[in-house]
Amino acid sequence: MKSPASAEIQQAGFFSIFETMSQPFISLENVSKHYSEDSAAGVSTIDLVIKKGDFIAIVGESGSGKSTLLKLIYGLLAPDSGEVFFKGEHLNGPHEKLIPGHDSMKMLNQDFNLNLFAKVYENIESMLSNEDVEGKKQKALAMMGFLRIDHLANKKIVELSGGEQQRVALARAIITEPEVLLLDEPFSQLDAVLKTQFRADLKRLNDELGITIIIVSHDPVDGLTLANQMIILKDGKLIESGKPDQLYSKPAYIYTGKLLGNAFVLSSEAARKMGIKTKKESVMIYPEWVQLKSSWSSKGYLIKDVFFRGFYEDLLLERDGIEVIAMNPKPGIYSKGQKVQVVISNFLEF
Ligand code: ADP
Ligand code: MG
Repeated sequence: MKSPASAEIQQAGFFSIFETMSQPFISLENVSKHYSEDSAAGVSTIDLVIKKGDFIAIVGESGSGKSTLLKLIYGLLAPDSGEVFFKGEHLNGPHEKLIPGHDSMKMLNQDFNLNLFAKVYENIESMLSNEDVEGKKQKALAMMGFLRIDHLANKKIVELSGGEQQRVALARAIITEPEVLLLDEPFSQLDAVLKTQFRADLKRLNDELGITIIIVSHDPVDGLTLANQMIILKDGKLIESGKPDQLYSKPAYIYTGKLLGNAFVLSSEAARKMGIKTKKESVMIYPEWVQLKSSWSSKGYLIKDVFFRGFYEDLLLERDGIEVIAMNPKPGIYSKGQKVQVVISNFLEF
């Protein structure tokens, strides 16, 4: 079901359906970018295909190259080697273009770049040309409705909260009908409630208007809940990519499991002590794979700490020097110092 606001937006001439192309929408072939010759910092030999309408999340530790990759896709940085293609055409880097960044793409920056003393409405409208004054007004109104900021239309930017300003910045970014929206850590300044709202807004932009969205985030939840494809970066390399549920449940690397979940790792020796049979070097376990049972035996695991998480809690357990984390779906029933039995329902070998 499309919301009335999105129908209005489409009537106002937004986002015509582009014919499907045979070539990939965005592709990177063997792309490397290093900031200096003697340093590994940057990204190396990235191969990547993005389809029209994809919601891509680029995830990785701080310094893993996420922002660099995003800037390469947008054309704010030029690769040292390899090539970026947009709809089959070479994407120009900043030295090949007067204004860096591809015209059909928009990047939402952390500094929202708003005119602080102009009204919300003026900030959004000023992105459009003056050729069709009435059309311009209609589009701005429809966009404000879609992002639920119509009640703020006549307020000045300085009178808005950070979350509201971000919405205005988003409206400005998409009112020119970009085919691709790129966002670098868009949730980092938002509290939990605004985060949830902003995630929902991005999902609607992708679902209802078909904008291809590429976000960079250090919070795996953003990627897991939003993306249809996640890209995992480590030390500037794309180590794996795929659907969030597949990457979570069957990561090829321990790094991915630790990044996406609260996974912990045991050596094969420790695993064997816990009754896990493995021939590999180590096993990785998510806390929700550790089931708990009350224990009165001295052989149980000692609860060393309890981390309250709202509707569940994580317990840090220890026995014979081996530490494991268990997710307890019923907070409040165990306390520090108690002993419990554990049953491992699943594990991955590496
Ligand atoms: P992320 O966004 O994942 O935190 P970045 O892409 O910003 O990572 O950075 C990747 C690596 O490149 C880091 O080691 C960072 O210090 C380095 N780097 C980023 N920008 C520059 C720059 N302009 N000059 C030199 N080194 C940089
Ligand atoms: Mg970054």
